Amino acid sequence: PRSLFWFRRDLRHTDNAGLYRALTQSAQVHCVFVFDKTILDALPNKADRRVEFIWESVRELQTALREAGGDLIVLHAHAEQAIPALAASLDVQAVFTNEDYEPSALVRDDSVATALAAQGRAFHAFKDHAIFAADEVMSKTGQPYSVFTPYKNAWLRKLNEHGSDFYVRAYPCENYWHKLAAPTKGLAQTDDLPSLEAMGFARTNLLSIPIPTGMRGALQVFDEFMPRMDRYFDQRNFPAVRGVSYLSVHNRFGTISPRYLARLAWQRNTHGASGWLNELVWRDFYFHILTHYPHVVGHAFKRKYENLAWENDAEKFAAWCEARTGYPIVDAAMQQILQTGFMHNRLRMIVASFLTKHLLIDWRWGERFFAEHLNDFDLAANNGGWQWAASTGCDAQPYFRIFNPVMQSEKFDAEGKFIRRYLPALEKVPSKFIHAPWTMPSLEQKLAGCVIGTDYPAPIVEHAVAREKALALFKVLG
Ligand code: FAD
Repeated sequence: PRSLFWFRRDLRHTDNAGLYRALTQSAQVHCVFVFDKTILDALPNKADRRVEFIWESVRELQTALREAGGDLIVLHAHAEQAIPALAASLDVQAVFTNEDYEPSALVRDDSVATALAAQGRAFHAFKDHAIFAADEVMSKTGQPYSVFTPYKNAWLRKLNEHGSDFYVRAYPCENYWHKLAAPTKGLAQTDDLPSLEAMGFARTNLLSIPIPTGMRGALQVFDEFMPRMDRYFDQRNFPAVRGVSYLSVHNRFGTISPRYLARLAWQRNTHGASGWLNELVWRDFYFHILTHYPHVVGHAFKRKYENLAWENDAEKFAAWCEARTGYPIVDAAMQQILQTGFMHNRLRMIVASFLTKHLLIDWRWGERFFAEHLNDFDLAANNGGWQWAASTGCDAQPYFRIFNPVMQSEKFDAEGKFIRRYLPALEKVPSKFIHAPWTMPSLEQKLAGCVIGTDYPAPIVEHAVAREKALALFKVLG
């Protein structure tokens, strides 16, 4: 039989579970990627690094598939209708793809499966994005987990049962590439991909940052990280240091196989590598949470915190979004996301805590801002991260543990190297004042060319006052 493979957040033709199944179960496989109008039209920003990242990666994938003897049909359409229509025009027996766990994707896939079934065609989706699917790691009594550590222990036990040869082994797609369908002449859709401009999007600074794209970019990022993996545990908390992998955008769009990453980290088995593997477990954990507790989308995991009396001051929110809170570590972090679409994990925790516990703004406002700005935006991880910081989440930071932004800054950016990189106004501020520049005497302010209130904002809230208010807010609900 002939089939169609639909690429989504798995932009690679190697070690791809669904593609492998399509290739091994069919005589011939067509490939498609859809720039989904349903998703793109809803994006508020028409210069979006994610769209450009996907575009570059799809272009690379198309070339790679052609070099392998196949092709990639690239459409700009509503996927829900376009996939059944393409399946009909190619007259394939089945559509293969990889599972996507986001609620809107589940609805879309249901609708595609129904339309295909009405035509007498099958729809098959496979686990590819996670190491373990949502119901593969369950408690002894068959319940989903809601606390990370027991989940992680069960996850690792399952992986260790078979070692690196089972759950994290590669799917050798390349052995079956000869089954890829060659470019179909005359089929309008098989022309090259639509340009970004034709889809209503502009270029961004993605390539000048630079953020390497596609499978080649992912390998480049990973190869640079590999020699640093053993030091991950000691260096991952310092945003001025290259301590983390910077692979998240590739994990988001599947330009590298999660099995490859987990396998190498597992085999390496050092303190640093285990620490890094732990992050990949978090990734699965939040897919698990999203699947088993779908109310987390838009609602507090802990229902008693659903109706906290947030202040939701629009001006304070604007100051946070625009990096002018007067707290350098917060503002530098917000500059990082604005300028690059990335933010270091330690900083995500700091700014999320600051927004919810210092500005008393609903975590959903911050979640939405991140969703619009993060290159690696992933509903499950983003929601999990926000609810963790806001103390409303499953295995969250207890509400009474409130990050002091000045102490976090002293601890994780002691010399202010990261702060100075993103806040040139503070470049000449002496290190002893860099974390709380409002404490700088006026003579020092003049000498540093940084007058507080003029060159750099005064803090919009006072830590001690904000802390008391946050404690009171949560205490009411216990
Ligand atoms: P590394 O430290 O090198 O980690 C390796 C990989 O593990 C990452 O690439 C990522 O795929 C995964 N990972 C790491 N930490 C987590 C985590 N806590 N949860 C889930 N997966 C993780 N991560 C996202 O991928 N998308 C998001 O939208 C997102 N939003 C976040 C929001 C908040 C408020 C917080 C506190 C964290 C969020 N994270 C999110 C998790 C984490 O901050 C990023 O995954 C990480 O900073 C990416 O950098 P890296 O690739 O260098 O990570």
